[in-house]
Amino acid sequence: MSTTKHYDVVIVGAGPAGMCAALYTGRSMLKTLVLERGIPGGELLNTEKLDDWIGEKSILGWELAKKFEEHAREFGAEFVTANVTSVKRLDDGTFETITDVGDRYTSPATIVTAGGTPVKLGIPGEGEFAGKGVSYCAICDGAFFREQVIAVVGGGDAAVEEADFLTRYASKVYVVHRRGSFRASRILVDRLHANPKIEVIWDSVAEEVEGDAGGLMTGLRIRDVRTDAVRTLAATGCLVFIGFRPNTGILADHVEHDEMGYLKTDSIMQTSVPGLFAAGDLRSQLTRQVTTAVGDATTAAIAVEKYLKARAEGHAVDPQGTGGYSA
Ligand code: NAP
Repeated sequence: MSTTKHYDVVIVGAGPAGMCAALYTGRSMLKTLVLERGIPGGELLNTEKLDDWIGEKSILGWELAKKFEEHAREFGAEFVTANVTSVKRLDDGTFETITDVGDRYTSPATIVTAGGTPVKLGIPGEGEFAGKGVSYCAICDGAFFREQVIAVVGGGDAAVEEADFLTRYASKVYVVHRRGSFRASRILVDRLHANPKIEVIWDSVAEEVEGDAGGLMTGLRIRDVRTDAVRTLAATGCLVFIGFRPNTGILADHVEHDEMGYLKTDSIMQTSVPGLFAAGDLRSQLTRQVTTAVGDATTAAIAVEKYLKARAEGHAVDPQGTGGYSA
């Protein structure tokens, strides 16, 4: 049976941003609910190891995720496993968050930290061989490629980092990139070039995932964009890391966004809808790191506390304020 429950703040998504926001709103004694469709952790669960989480020279993604969750729970945040389908602002200015089983949660403020979904290549065979060679998550599927030759597609941080990680299982990793240089950060690129199991194929695009009658992937057809030459890499895995799309489809109201669909916020993480805050990977910004996600989330959570106080006291709330809630 579906239910309706009320909270001070509902947080959609339990990645680093969601869990950090929950920690701060919980710590501010706000009744806090975190809704997450999977295991709490978000992109941390797609990251083998972090060496840029300040204070830890090296920490496993899942380990940091677990610490974040425990810490947020410590301050009273409630976690519910649920697939959110809609976040809507009602006439009285409160929000209604609805799940796919019809449960409803109302709150005067909502923080969306729903992250993004991997972009697909959109080539023949990609869908057919998904889970049978084609994957979007190295840490989830890496071990399936033990002693196999695989291809990674992409040239950003994710592709370059995960190609390096995948060499602990695969016998060889091709990195297929559509241009002649990586956009990934220097330290990751240097690590990749130092790895003898990796061969970079520049200026090439994936055209088709090939497979056998038994339904398993046997190769990746690629085309050199300079010469138009086509060849098939004898790869039994294709790991695609060509970016993310922000998960903003759950927002029922129009919320201002940039040309890529990332939500625009002001300096206190409030979106164009008063009381609706955004933090982490779905927010329009220069970079998407764990450190920036938790930074956004801290600001959003503290802004929510001020927003709720002003609202409760009947003060004017400055929707695009730079932190100033007028008394
Ligand atoms: P990204 O930085 O947007 O890189 C996407 C890559 O895929 C680019 O190299 C792009 O090529 C390529 N690409 C895009 N569409 C393509 C297509 N249709 N076919 C072939 N190639 C295509 O995405 P990301 O690597 O997923 O990273 C997302 C964010 O997370 C970034 O801000 C990144 O810094 C962060 N991140 C950080 C770490 C870390 O610091 N350890 C790890 C993972 C992710 P072009 O270069 O030609 O555009």
